[in-house]
Amino acid sequence: MKLTIMTLFKETIDAMLECSIVGRARKNNCISIESVDIRAFSNNKHLQVDDYPYGGGAGMLMMAQPIYDCYQFIKERSSAQTMRVIYVTPQGKVWNQAMAEEFSKEEELVILCGHYEGVDQRVIDEIVTDEISIGDYVLTGGELAALVMTDSIVRLIPGVLGKKESFEEESFSDGLLEYPQYTRPAVFRDRKVPDVLLSGNHQKIEAYRREQSIINTFHKRPELLREAHLNERERHFINEYFYEDTKKYCKKEQDML
Ligand code: SAM
Repeated sequence: MKLTIMTLFKETIDAMLECSIVGRARKNNCISIESVDIRAFSNNKHLQVDDYPYGGGAGMLMMAQPIYDCYQFIKERSSAQTMRVIYVTPQGKVWNQAMAEEFSKEEELVILCGHYEGVDQRVIDEIVTDEISIGDYVLTGGELAALVMTDSIVRLIPGVLGKKESFEEESFSDGLLEYPQYTRPAVFRDRKVPDVLLSGNHQKIEAYRREQSIINTFHKRPELLREAHLNERERHFINEYFYEDTKKYCKKEQDML
């Protein structure tokens, strides 16, 4: 996969792309990621990239021309059949694990980071295929959002994480939150690691973790259970043990799990 980030703050992006698992994935050629400075494409002699909004109002807007020319530069160098161009914006579809999985299968992605009050609508209409938000709050610029997306995509690319299981059992992978985890020592401030985890019985450990995962999800994000991959026995378990609580989350009896 190739991922290109269009930004006015290249240093912010580049600093993060060097680090940790993303940095290692780039070094190992699991993925090619680069940032491109939109300002370098301004045809203004002062390299201006923003201007006042027509109709008045607070703040400045990123101009269409430097963004469009930057995109053309990226497109001309691309050999991909299709290229999804994502504008990160608080108005977009809210990012989640299923979307990270979907995007991790693409051949080439381009992410456009806005700044100031945003971007001239015409260039969005011209080049953008997807609008993505990382949550219902407003950031000063799209760089953090682009990095959040990049990080969650990169770790799903085959070969990036050590073992395939590393993300297969993680939160959201089957619609549930992950089970609680423990490392050494076996006792910390009188808190013991659950005996089953020390038993060496892998079947029991697996069953215990699955149960803990369901309980964890029930307490922290009960709404996820509606879409989670649960078998009959597990749905029965939830109704049996959490019936009263379940009722609180379900307005009607037929909404019960
Ligand atoms: N005026 C815009 C609006 O109300 O929709 C907000 C502009 S915001 C101050 C500047 C830039 O930050 C946006 O163009 C976008 O790229 C980025 N941004 C802000 N919040 C974001 C979010 N929740 N998710 C993704 N990008 C965001």
